[in-house]
Amino acid sequence: MAKSTKTTKRSWAEPYKIKMVELLKMTTREEREKMIREAGYNTFLLRSKDVYIDLLTDSGTSAMSDQQWAGMMLGDEAYAGSENFYHLEETIQNYYGYKYVIPCHQGRGAENIISKILIKPGDIIPGNMYFTTTRLHQELAGGTFVDVIVDEAHDPVNLHPFKGNVDLQKLTDVIKRYGAEKIPYVCIATSVNMAGGQPISMENLKAVRKLTKKHGIRIIHDMTRVAENAWFIKMREKGYANKTTAQIVKEICSYTDGATMSAKKDALVNIGGFLAINEHDIYEEASNMVVVYEGLHTYGGMAGRDMEAMAIGIKESVSDNHIRARIGQVEYLGHKLIDAGVPIVQPIGGHGIFLDAKKFLPHIPQTAFPAQTLAAEIYVDSGVRSMERGIVSAGRNKVTGDHYYPELELVRLTIPRRVYTQAHMDVISESIEEVFLNRKKIKGLKMIYEPKYLRFFQAKFTKLK
Ligand SMILES: *Cc1c(COP(=O)(O)O)cnc(C)c1O
Repeated sequence: MAKSTKTTKRSWAEPYKIKMVELLKMTTREEREKMIREAGYNTFLLRSKDVYIDLLTDSGTSAMSDQQWAGMMLGDEAYAGSENFYHLEETIQNYYGYKYVIPCHQGRGAENIISKILIKPGDIIPGNMYFTTTRLHQELAGGTFVDVIVDEAHDPVNLHPFKGNVDLQKLTDVIKRYGAEKIPYVCIATSVNMAGGQPISMENLKAVRKLTKKHGIRIIHDMTRVAENAWFIKMREKGYANKTTAQIVKEICSYTDGATMSAKKDALVNIGGFLAINEHDIYEEASNMVVVYEGLHTYGGMAGRDMEAMAIGIKESVSDNHIRARIGQVEYLGHKLIDAGVPIVQPIGGHGIFLDAKKFLPHIPQTAFPAQTLAAEIYVDSGVRSMERGIVSAGRNKVTGDHYYPELELVRLTIPRRVYTQAHMDVISESIEEVFLNRKKIKGLKMIYEPKYLRFFQAKFTKLK
């Protein structure tokens, strides 16, 4: 296993203190064995109250600040023209630099609207790796997604510092093959979720801007984790060490023409999102369409208080102190696991740790669901809930009916923002180390119930003898 690359001597320590706590139920191993059996060895089917440390997702699971909670009390719940909308609009214009703002209930609401407006049947949308809801909306609008991310993104041990980069040759080839008029936009994600939270470099983004400009193609930015990406640029890219996260975030946005945002991630709220765009025509159409799918253009499916919390969350999310601790905590956990010899995807990404289940449990064939098995074992050991990202998530080939056999068979440990402490990170690491020590005794699973769509959410399993 690669050695830890940790160099800093100062801790990433939390830039906040705790004012209110949520008590957790502590369970015994016997109780957890029963619970996971009843859940069919699927962590999605556990009840949250039976989970000690919940790493299922970083979506909508952040802890809000006292300022955000105070903002909730300032909710102006008017149907039209809520004060909180104007605060949100002004905040997005200030921190991200986009001209026009349409609030949406969450990220996929914005994806639906922009896809319907820009994509015609037969269009091609190149992007730096797909995301589930983003690609689905592009397809529903008649488009086809084409992956143009660098090859390194698909390799769990490649240490490339910017595995979210676009392969410019692949993009050039796509433009040549289909023609610019078939490409309504290039979809650029910052801190690429499906690659494990891997960033795109500013240099690469600028090159994508130059290339798309030459062909008159827009860039729509999936900015769900833009602040985390900005921090990696600050740490890793020449010329950015002395810039603030806020400055880097704004520069990233300046090379794009519009954005969709799931505020449930970086923006530190439990619900919300928006569409932002610089072209007035598109804004007009979007503010018309949002009325059909989300709500009036000054609330887009959100309560006034939620827009207020989001405006405050955006400001907090681009603070260097916040993001240093956010990524510092993820890296702290990652380095502990690396030092213990546990196989994880490297470099460590922005929003979580991904265990390499093929290497962790090499004696379990992919057809016996190694990542699903590992997630269940970790829960039994300590009450830590993770999720499978492997053969179960990949689903079946519609034509042959066989499983897809993805290259990556991973367990995702996604870290909610500002929720858990360093001691929690220690518990997680100790538990995984314990499971790792006893890995040879672990047997795989057999699927006994398989739903037709997105099977990973509801599939049930039984233990192989
Ligand atoms: C979560 C997410 C979305 C979708 O946002 P929702 O708020 O869940 O609808 C889109 N893109 C990325 C990269 C995401 O992580």
